[in-house]
Amino acid sequence: MLIGAIDGGGTKVLTAVMTETGAIVARRQDAVPTADVPAYFKRCAELLEACAQEAGVTVQALDGVGMNIPGMVTPDGHVLGSPSAGWGTFHARPLLADMLALPSERLFFENDINACALAEQRFGNAGDDFVWITISTGNGGAVVANGRLVRGSGGCAGEFGHVKVEYDAPYPCGCGGRGCLEAHASGVAIARRAVEAGLPADTDAKRCEELARQGNATAQAVYAQTGVYLGRALAVAANLLNPAQAFIGGGASKALDLMLPTIQQTLLKEAIPQCQALRVTPTSLGYEAALLGAASVCLEGLSKSGAGV
Ligand SMILES: [Zn+2]
Repeated sequence: MLIGAIDGGGTKVLTAVMTETGAIVARRQDAVPTADVPAYFKRCAELLEACAQEAGVTVQALDGVGMNIPGMVTPDGHVLGSPSAGWGTFHARPLLADMLALPSERLFFENDINACALAEQRFGNAGDDFVWITISTGNGGAVVANGRLVRGSGGCAGEFGHVKVEYDAPYPCGCGGRGCLEAHASGVAIARRAVEAGLPADTDAKRCEELARQGNATAQAVYAQTGVYLGRALAVAANLLNPAQAFIGGGASKALDLMLPTIQQTLLKEAIPQCQALRVTPTSLGYEAALLGAASVCLEGLSKSGAGV
């Protein structure tokens, strides 16, 4: 079985032709601007077509295609908005079906972080109760409870980025609120706090990590405080859902070891004793988490539609 995977990001697109076990047969990546939605989807289709060609098949021969959307979306492709891509509402399914010349029943859509959680369940070592948090430009999240992805009544569940974690000095968030996790613990927020703490003006989250590992006390304090913020958000999840594991993905997850002590201290302080045993680890899927996510979205969609996987 060969399937198509499209990880549609806010700045770049990754596509692949993969097997049902998650093996990548062909892979393409490109920076694709999001301002023009039809042009964005056309570029996604072209990249997937190039993958299919390399794999020696046509796109139409693929069993199905899964696509991650960097925002809120229903499984049949109604995009409900994407702050990071600057998208409002539109129906992605007919758009992509038309460009790939594939029947729309073989196209499946999911929020990108939900897709990562589905991949952790299918290809990783996740159990039935876990949360997934990404630390990249923003903070995304996903919840799996009782073995099922929690989508919520309107497809918006798992928005960890907007859990309030700072009440004393809350910073404005892109959502219009203040003190959200994303305003204090995203890659952008880590960089801002690093500069506010006195590190050079061009310090980003990665540079802050390097400085912390070289022993810079200011950089270490920035990551320790990021751990407190993550711990607060995870304590809310622990008390509500009692998950066994929390998987951390995204670029800044490489710095998880710098944050783990304060994440754990905060969990011990803010989660009830019965819910404190939450294992916090980096994603087991590494850099390909989102691409494996798009493949999982396709495989889950096919199995629900009776095409069987
Ligand atoms: Zn917010």
